Amino acid sequence: MAHDIPYVGRFAPSPTGPLHAGSLVAALASYLDAKAHSGRWLVRIDDIDPPREMAGAGHDIINVLIAHSLHPDRVDHQSHHGQRYTEALEQLQERGLVYACKCTRNNVAPGGVCISDCDSRAYGNDEQVSLRIRVPRETTIHFDDLILSRQRCLLGQQQANFILRRKDGLYAYQLAAACDDARDISHVIRGVDLLESTPQQLFLQEILGLPSPQYGHLPIVCGSDGQKLSKQTGATALSTESPLANLCAAAHHLGLPQAPSSISSPADFLRWSVTQWHRESVKR
Ligand code: GLU
Repeated sequence: MAHDIPYVGRFAPSPTGPLHAGSLVAALASYLDAKAHSGRWLVRIDDIDPPREMAGAGHDIINVLIAHSLHPDRVDHQSHHGQRYTEALEQLQERGLVYACKCTRNNVAPGGVCISDCDSRAYGNDEQVSLRIRVPRETTIHFDDLILSRQRCLLGQQQANFILRRKDGLYAYQLAAACDDARDISHVIRGVDLLESTPQQLFLQEILGLPSPQYGHLPIVCGSDGQKLSKQTGATALSTESPLANLCAAAHHLGLPQAPSSISSPADFLRWSVTQWHRESVKR
């Protein structure tokens, strides 16, 4: 079921560290795609994993975006939506689509099947379990990526029975993102490192009877070691001293032409970039 709402895009950082050059690419592309389609741009702080969070990071991320003239039309926090995730999980549990699992990463076979047969056992209430969704083996997910074109995933064979709630009781990213994006987002533009998550999120939206946004995946930025820049591996924080240079580098990564030399502020740069943004020009 596709969304039938005006364009609403989003950038959804986890507050696990400061923004870096790779996150700016995702922020800029989601902003430009929204503004080029006369849409609204929301920033959602994905703060549902306190053990991995860095104190103050959510607040700092917003300030750094604003220093780059990337002003959100609205700021949202996943930590405010626990009730939404609880209801979705309960609905799936009532329909017998969820089972408790004691497996560690090491005894889940490739493809997502528990080696210890958790789905046919009953664990006591006092046992530490994660909750997994049952994905029928024949489940295949197709979608038209806005940047990478047609995608097909044999979800039931490759990423079956993924986790909805972790052993520590925290909701998994897939459930939270699927619920929130279904709620008020029409377009998700994000890094290709999340391409594998999209079939899981589409599957959850479908079985929950929720609408799905359209998805587009961007090339990620790698460091000099060839690895993806990431907060967890300590990528250098973006400096707010050179916002225009940072935006130019992010735009170049996305395949935008070089900006005219008359542009001297981040706000002017963004106004010009909106007129230059074409999904087809994004490097793949
Ligand atoms: N918050 C997650 C991240 O920063 C997911 C973002 C998304 O779905 O765009 O990796």
